[in-house]
Amino acid sequence: MSKTKKKQKKSAALKEKRKKTSVQVNPISSRKKKLNKEKISGTFMNGNKISEISRSKNKITNRLVQSSNTSNSSLNNVNTNSPKQPQATNNNKAKKKRLKKGKIQLDEVNNKSDSHVKKIQEVKSVLERKHKSNKDGTATSVNQMKSFNANNMKTKKNSKIKIEKLKEMLTTKNQSEIKPAKVKEVLPLRERMMMKLKASRFRYLNETLYNNSSTESKKYFKEDPDSFKAYHDGYKQQVLQWPLNPLDVIIESVKNMPENHIIADFGCGEALLATSVPQKVHSFDLVSVNERVQACDMAHTPLLTNSVHVVVFCLSLMGTNLGDYITEANRVLKKDGILKIAEIESRFEQIEDFIKLLNDYGFVNTWKDLSQNLFYFLDFKKVKDITKDRYKLPKIALKSCIYKKR
Ligand code: SAH
Repeated sequence: MSKTKKKQKKSAALKEKRKKTSVQVNPISSRKKKLNKEKISGTFMNGNKISEISRSKNKITNRLVQSSNTSNSSLNNVNTNSPKQPQATNNNKAKKKRLKKGKIQLDEVNNKSDSHVKKIQEVKSVLERKHKSNKDGTATSVNQMKSFNANNMKTKKNSKIKIEKLKEMLTTKNQSEIKPAKVKEVLPLRERMMMKLKASRFRYLNETLYNNSSTESKKYFKEDPDSFKAYHDGYKQQVLQWPLNPLDVIIESVKNMPENHIIADFGCGEALLATSVPQKVHSFDLVSVNERVQACDMAHTPLLTNSVHVVVFCLSLMGTNLGDYITEANRVLKKDGILKIAEIESRFEQIEDFIKLLNDYGFVNTWKDLSQNLFYFLDFKKVKDITKDRYKLPKIALKSCIYKKR
């Protein structure tokens, strides 16, 4: 055989060997492809842990590819440099060993990563199930979640922290969803209903007082003292809606009077005037709501004739017998005594007509304030004793004050 032919045969054999080596390398590159695929899906599925695993997989794969490439080139060297063959064979063996070791490591990492991925998928699906059941309003057992976490504690510290956080978030969400709903559905409706009932009862009792004689009203409240309390609760609510409480205006003016003045509060309610001024105050109302109030019809008080300096009617001119109240005021007041009236503006047809009527009852108007929104304030002085003429006097009538529905 010629030298050239020998050379040709040798190179053909070498080519054959290269082919075989490249067949051995292929599984490694396909493994690399697979790893890259897993890396993408892993990162997509769950953040750091998976990409960390994928990175170590890649490192090992690169090392393997490098080592296989080196091994190939070594093989080429071996075949081309025959005198170095025994050392090259030893190197080759060592590299093959490393390659094998690398493959084992890669398999371990693969197994580990697969189990991580599996567990993370499980956690994800449990959380999804929990979220879904919470949406449906079904409470998921927290214990189920706890036992699941216990089983997976070793493998995923990071995931566990995330689960705990999510669990906490879901529980808090549940609580915040239920509580306000209950409050909204039950309390406000109940409160609103109660308020409406109270308001209607107040309007009914108010009209009863306006449209009946004091004798009839007294009888009515005596038989049902509870309704008197209901009336006053409603009245207090009404006062809160007004821009001012007329009683405050009266209190201020009484405070400016001499301390030895004796005051009579006709239709006193809770007797707030008595507690707000330094003077002696006799407080009268149909029903006594506290120890300061004397229960009586103000058409017939127990006060002595010509005994008081001031008589007050603060929003209390109610009933069909108003003339009886003014006559009683004339009786108990001293000469030059003061009659103070605060009333709702809309109750007067013509305020001047009312003032003239009061002249017939022995009073002259000394002061008036018609400027206040809603209310009129009037002061009179007793100039005449009307006891003898009492049955000849004209009737005093004011319009009823009908409170609007709230
Ligand atoms: N003056 C009080 C209460 C006003 S409400 C205040 O300003 O706070 C009107 C009050 O007049 C009611 O308490 C009512 O019971 C009382 N009243 C009406 N007619 C009465 C009468 N004939 N005798 C005694 N009080 C009467």
